Amino acid sequence: MNYYKFTAIRLADSWLSPAYVGITADGTIGYLSGTGPTDIEATQVTTVNGAVVPGFQNAHSHAFQYGMVGAAEQHQHGATDDFWSWREAMYQCALRFNPQQVQDVATALYREMLRNGYTHVAEFHYLHHDEQGKPYDNPAEIGERLIHAAATAGIKITLVPVFYQKGNFGQAPQERQRRFISKTTDDYFRLLENSKQATSWYKDARLGYGVHSLRAVDGRDIIETVAQGPQDLPFHLHAAEQLKEIGDSQSYLGKRPVEWLLDNLPLDRRFHVVHCTHMTEEETRLLAQSGANVVLCPGTEGNLGDGIFNLSSYANHGGSWSIGTDSHISLNPLEDLRWLDYAQRLISHKRNTFADGAVTLMDTTLQAGRRAMGTVEKEDFPYFEIGKPFDAAVYDLEHPMLSQAPLRHLLSTIVYAGGTSLLMGTIVNGQWTYQKNRF
Ligand SMILES: [Zn+2]
Repeated sequence: MNYYKFTAIRLADSWLSPAYVGITADGTIGYLSGTGPTDIEATQVTTVNGAVVPGFQNAHSHAFQYGMVGAAEQHQHGATDDFWSWREAMYQCALRFNPQQVQDVATALYREMLRNGYTHVAEFHYLHHDEQGKPYDNPAEIGERLIHAAATAGIKITLVPVFYQKGNFGQAPQERQRRFISKTTDDYFRLLENSKQATSWYKDARLGYGVHSLRAVDGRDIIETVAQGPQDLPFHLHAAEQLKEIGDSQSYLGKRPVEWLLDNLPLDRRFHVVHCTHMTEEETRLLAQSGANVVLCPGTEGNLGDGIFNLSSYANHGGSWSIGTDSHISLNPLEDLRWLDYAQRLISHKRNTFADGAVTLMDTTLQAGRRAMGTVEKEDFPYFEIGKPFDAAVYDLEHPMLSQAPLRHLLSTIVYAGGTSLLMGTIVNGQWTYQKNRF
């Protein structure tokens, strides 16, 4: 085994300091203790003055959108610029990229995720066909490219190919959505089967499934997809991101999006509902109590003017959330975590969204994030566990700010003041995939 002595490692509710970690040849944890192993020399232990937290899960990514970051920020005077005009720019981006370009953009993106402490990404994938809208010979061509990108970068990936069928509620797809479309549930399940094969060659690739949104798939087909799809995989979908979407849903389905989900799907722990920035108090309570998770993307939601998720109420009802970088306008998990909290402070004019500093914020995000990736078999699990892969973000305790922080404030200091410069490295399967000053 390879032994490290870290200054501190984060366990669920405390730091273990110092922390000796032994890593087996297959990258799993073989030893974890506050005291060193007695059967080896001290010189065989690598000392790292770092604070170790579990690697972050990025529960919502559209990799190709990294190719347009910053390109839709000039706004014409007098013209309405909102989510829907941004979406037009995104469609143009989606129509441009061939498979190799998607792979190149995704490889660069996934490397940047590692440089920010993410060790696993859920790729919410709907770029299924070629630029003309024709299926590729391998229907999962782009999905396979995304897996190649993840393998090249060294990040774990859960590929979530999603069903996209409509232009809007009850409307035929638009020409510029031609790369996304599966006409029927059978078409979608074939795509899912091909995607499953595409994940098989990379041991750190997994599969999820889902539908793009209520506006993109007929309601009956959503119900059928859930009922007939694999019951053991995480199910992802967008919902209730924009006010217009709420109005359209009420007009067409007679219900608000989350209200419709609650009434029509067997929501539970395997569901991951992305955004939910517009929910009534009743929807907030019922969604939390259903056991379903939300995926929050505060960087993108702020950039697109989506709205503010009702985190305080949702958390009070026991709701569970993960984070994602979505359009990748922000790639720093610490920034997204604190913006979840800061948005609540800005509307409540109070500071204490959570009484325990960053503990709940970090813990819930990690647990729901692992569920979003499909990597957990049980409800409550340790941050680090013998026999499990050693995936970690390591923060630099030589950094002036962190070197001053006592252990009782260390997690809050990292989350509320941390940026990429504090990260000394990221470890996946026991290997440093990124080390500051090395690349
Ligand atoms: Zn999205």
